[in-house]
Amino acid sequence: MDTDGSQRSLVEGMKHRKGRYGGFCFGGQKPDGVTALNPLPRGTRFPNGAAAALLLTFDVEGTYGNGTGDTRREIANYERICERLGRNGVPATFNVVGKMAEEHGPQFLNWMWDAGCEVAPHGYVHDLNKRYGGDDVYAGHYGPNENLALVRDGVNAINAIRPGAAKGFRLPYGHFNEYSYDAFADLGLKWASNVSIDDFLVPGNGYGAAPFQMQLGGKRYPIVEVPLDSQTYDWSIWMADDVTNPSFVDSVRRYCALRNVSFERTPRGAVRIWRQRMLDAIESEAMFTLLCHPINLAVMSERWGDPVDEFLLPVIDLLGEFHREGRAWVGTCAQMAEFYCSRHSVA
Ligand SMILES: [Zn+2]
Repeated sequence: MDTDGSQRSLVEGMKHRKGRYGGFCFGGQKPDGVTALNPLPRGTRFPNGAAAALLLTFDVEGTYGNGTGDTRREIANYERICERLGRNGVPATFNVVGKMAEEHGPQFLNWMWDAGCEVAPHGYVHDLNKRYGGDDVYAGHYGPNENLALVRDGVNAINAIRPGAAKGFRLPYGHFNEYSYDAFADLGLKWASNVSIDDFLVPGNGYGAAPFQMQLGGKRYPIVEVPLDSQTYDWSIWMADDVTNPSFVDSVRRYCALRNVSFERTPRGAVRIWRQRMLDAIESEAMFTLLCHPINLAVMSERWGDPVDEFLLPVIDLLGEFHREGRAWVGTCAQMAEFYCSRHSVA
């Protein structure tokens, strides 16, 4: 599914413009000023005794960001997605755009909570120029007031439906500066998930597969950072545009070459890539955070059937299998943050 030409590249103007630190990790970029304090060491035993942890995370954003699927179909899909998660006993983290929760909730959020999952904000608006005009989309392009409003309004949109539910935050595009983290801390959030695990374009550019305490410049935040997959996440497989965002496609191609997995831009092809990512984490006794944008599972094509059936449900079954066998622990970002805090004080 190619973009229609009206979309902008995701890797333009990526550096933070306000503040001294931040940016994002996509497309071979690296944010400024991040120190990963006390990463959980390899060999850590997670709550079910497994030496690896797999987190399934979703950015729930309809067409509030730059997705091109059908929002109504995306929302309807959550009923069977949550049913499958519940049946497998594996909770996921849904990062929901606040405005989408307000305008389309609360039923789909209740399905998530009823399945034992976590719901956290993914911005209030997804692209900040929709709130402030102009061309500046990313949080790291704004000052303290706009960052506080983004985080506060996102948290309030979730907590208005279920008080106290919002425990963490994933920023749109994972783009941040120190004002973003100041806002997380001011609002008492426990975790954030913005930086990348690895980078197949610039090896060594990632932050590794372990949660850590975030430090920006000289300031330590009482926030557990849960790094995420920004390389082989869903979009690269069947949505990214080779022309405006070739770095996304190149990342997946390199990973596939490295692991001898077929590079196939279909939902079924994506299952093979994610399965390999899970096996890598299990083998290296690490954590891995899968990232899926369900709006991309609401894209119909003559090249595949229903992407929920062909991609996501098999992935959920695999996670359930690994969790039940004790080969990996599957939990939410809040559960991971709580586990981390049982090992390290982040005060
Ligand atoms: Zn997003």
